[in-house]
Amino acid sequence: MIAQKARFRHARKLERLAGYRIPDQAFHGATLEAVSSRLNYDRLDHTLHDQMLNFIHSFMRCRCRETPLCGCPEKKFSREILELRENDLDHRQIAQFLQEEYGIDIYPADILSYLEDSVHVLEAIRDIARLQEMPDLCSKAGTHIDMLER
Ligand SMILES: [Zn+2]
Repeated sequence: MIAQKARFRHARKLERLAGYRIPDQAFHGATLEAVSSRLNYDRLDHTLHDQMLNFIHSFMRCRCRETPLCGCPEKKFSREILELRENDLDHRQIAQFLQEEYGIDIYPADILSYLEDSVHVLEAIRDIARLQEMPDLCSKAGTHIDMLER
């Protein structure tokens, strides 16, 4: 999972705010629980304050009973990376965007290999859809492959 590679650059500041140990990994269960535990984000500097609100807004709004440990935040993060790529950002620009928008550090090389893996999964879906005569799914998979690969 690509989400496991995402780290908060300012995890120590969040830790001070929470008053207990928080892992660096942004999508670690303990981190997600801390972030969703009504920390007083007003005490953070302006940039980090906005980044944490962006993070909550983009990845942590679901109605699952087990939220935030339901898997949705990780899935939304994976989807965000694919959408950024489909909006024509390359892996370096995606890493830069994630840092500015959410305060998340992630290696461009990890993003690149995630994008390549995603294309392979889509190729498998496209091939199976073709064999099973599911033309809609086949062409949708093809469209996403083209958008990720261009
Ligand atoms: Zn959920």
